Amino acid sequence: MPFRPRYTGLIERYRDRLPVSDDTKLISLGEGNTPLLKLNNIPKVLGKDVEIYVKYEGLNPTGSFKDRGMTMAVTKAVEEGSKAIICASTGNTSAAAAAYAARAGIKAFVLIPEGKIALGKLAQGMMHGATVIQIKGNFDEGMQLVKDVAEHAPVTIVNSINPYRLQGQKTAAFEIVEELGFAPDFHCLPVGNAGNITAHWMGYSEYFDDGIIDARPKMLGFQAAGSAPFMRGHMVDNPETVATAIRIGHPQSWDKAWKVKEESEGWFDECSDEQILAAQKLLAEHEGIFCEPASATSLAGAINELNAGKIPEGSKIVCTLTGHGLKDPDTAIKQSTSPLVTVDATLDAVRDAILNNIAD
Ligand SMILES: *Cc1c(COP(=O)(O)O)cnc(C)c1O
Repeated sequence: MPFRPRYTGLIERYRDRLPVSDDTKLISLGEGNTPLLKLNNIPKVLGKDVEIYVKYEGLNPTGSFKDRGMTMAVTKAVEEGSKAIICASTGNTSAAAAAYAARAGIKAFVLIPEGKIALGKLAQGMMHGATVIQIKGNFDEGMQLVKDVAEHAPVTIVNSINPYRLQGQKTAAFEIVEELGFAPDFHCLPVGNAGNITAHWMGYSEYFDDGIIDARPKMLGFQAAGSAPFMRGHMVDNPETVATAIRIGHPQSWDKAWKVKEESEGWFDECSDEQILAAQKLLAEHEGIFCEPASATSLAGAINELNAGKIPEGSKIVCTLTGHGLKDPDTAIKQSTSPLVTVDATLDAVRDAILNNIAD
């Protein structure tokens, strides 16, 4: 029997909506087609009558939505004859770039902020054989360096300023519509460079223009309070947040994201680091869903808007969970309050440990 892969990837699935030809060689790891999970318990915990769905993008091959964009960006880079790709990254773009470059047999260079990237992401970049360049600076400085160096070296930039990235990422909106059978009332996303919120709007708009849906969601973009240029109305120079994936002060899709806000009649808002971590824990403890801190910003934001009455009860909400919780084990363990019990290796000790903890 011939090899018929179950996971063909999103380019294959949405070929006629993406800029590829019949001859394009696809660089794929079976990305996309991630679960859309309806939250069963959290609305009850919140005491709210709402339907909240989470799009679990952490289940992409390298553990974040960046794979949707990277399969397109690397496919096109290879098609155009590129032998090397480069990106600045808070971690997940570097992990995806490294993996897809390995798949394609080309070289990846990734610039990351020293000491400010989650452990799992660093491991991925190194393991996939990328040249990892740590800079003594933040993402925004890395991004500028990448733009400058790409003018002097034969490398293709695969940050979200590469238009193929957004083309790949728009497919998440297609999947949501196909699964729900309609577009949600609100779509909540964490916002860093604002590429993903832009890409989702492109996807919804394409289906709207083709008459597949008759309404588009209000797009809500949430930032960490210490890293919230869209709230300040200007670029921020020293962004700080526990949600390292959105520790970005100079968003690359600034104008595009403001347009999304206008066109969708949505808005931006901010969440404290405490609210972000609380939402991460809520998902893990009440739904069995483990996402990284930045991802939980979408739910933290939705909860704030529900409490403020800005999202009315009865609404249908989709929150994108952008990356997997295993990306950042340090932050997870630090904030966990679950009992970690150490006992002697005896029947009595283990039985006591169970009986002492069974009440709750
Ligand atoms: C990249 C990333 C974001 C931010 O996406 P933008 O397109 O930069 O706004 C959010 N969460 C995670 C986990 C990411 O990796």
